Amino acid sequence: MDITKQQEIKKWFDENKVKYINFKKFEDDIRKEPYVTLFNKTLHSCMFNDCCYPPIRSHVFQEKGVMKSVSKNSRVYKPFYDDDSHSLILKDVTIGGNSARFWGFCDKHDKIFEEFESRKLLINEKDFTLQIYRCICRELSQIKDVIKANNILYYKIDKQIKKDVSNACLQHISEIAQDNDAILYLDNLVQTAVENCLVPVKQMNVKFERQRDKIYRMYCLMMKRITAKKYSFKDLYKDFYIKHISISNNTLPICVSCFVASINKKSKKLSYNLVLVISFPNGDNQEIIFFSLKSDANYALSFFNKKDMTDNDYIQLLEKITLTNANFWFLNPSYYDSLSDIQRAELNTKISQGVFEHNMNTIGDVFNFEI
Ligand SMILES: [Zn+2]
Repeated sequence: MDITKQQEIKKWFDENKVKYINFKKFEDDIRKEPYVTLFNKTLHSCMFNDCCYPPIRSHVFQEKGVMKSVSKNSRVYKPFYDDDSHSLILKDVTIGGNSARFWGFCDKHDKIFEEFESRKLLINEKDFTLQIYRCICRELSQIKDVIKANNILYYKIDKQIKKDVSNACLQHISEIAQDNDAILYLDNLVQTAVENCLVPVKQMNVKFERQRDKIYRMYCLMMKRITAKKYSFKDLYKDFYIKHISISNNTLPICVSCFVASINKKSKKLSYNLVLVISFPNGDNQEIIFFSLKSDANYALSFFNKKDMTDNDYIQLLEKITLTNANFWFLNPSYYDSLSDIQRAELNTKISQGVFEHNMNTIGDVFNFEI
């Protein structure tokens, strides 16, 4: 290839690079598709040990107990990512629908929850252990799906961008079509630029993979107990930190399950501290559970900034965690409907900010639930 042709390609590429190699532009177009195909039954199997039967859509919280408490006429508000506004918005969904479920267990293994499902209340450590286990399973299933979907997305973006740039360049400098060296030169330019463009998004997946590994460890340690039918907290304390607060004679119009994560600065490798936070109405009480591996107990303890936390302090903490870390929570429409237009607008702004900023300290008051 002569040097002028090479210069011509390079010049065209430098001028057009920004136009074609724009991750954000592709992401918006392509993101919907892999998510749709991935959150599909065929790619999942029952989460109980090595069971390979297909899962049914399992509930995370009991439909007739918890979900009923946070609903009005069988409907609840749940946050969703809105592609148009790029923010989190509340949508009204039915409690029996897919939004409250995940690809959890097969018919047979879903029955391990039958006891408290039919009772509608969680009354003993066995119930709470099973509820914690079920929340961990949902988080694990969710993060695995996100990692898979992102990998497919990167692959598609990579392929699509390369194709688009080559076609555009060939249209502009048509004589290089027969010149293998020139094509190779162009391919190399594109390859490097695409790789650089995908670095930040691939790093995002590395973060998810590290978190998944830890959630998987928690899952395995829980699975060991469930298989051996050992449900007592006394046994769980060997591997886990658990703080269970039961706010008596008061319920909140919300249920939530999420992980709160922070980078472990002491570790040389990239790793995360993780705490599972679950809260839900249970009969006359509101349960709040903080659950982590024993090794992350100090991180969990850092949430409780006062020595004597009151019920109100815990509720405030839960509100902040929900808005800054959770995407799986349900709000009773009766509460939302009771707000003034200004209060609703404020809440919606906080919902869309909170999830991106992840900062519990700057979020301020959220729902102002009163007890
Ligand atoms: Zn199964």
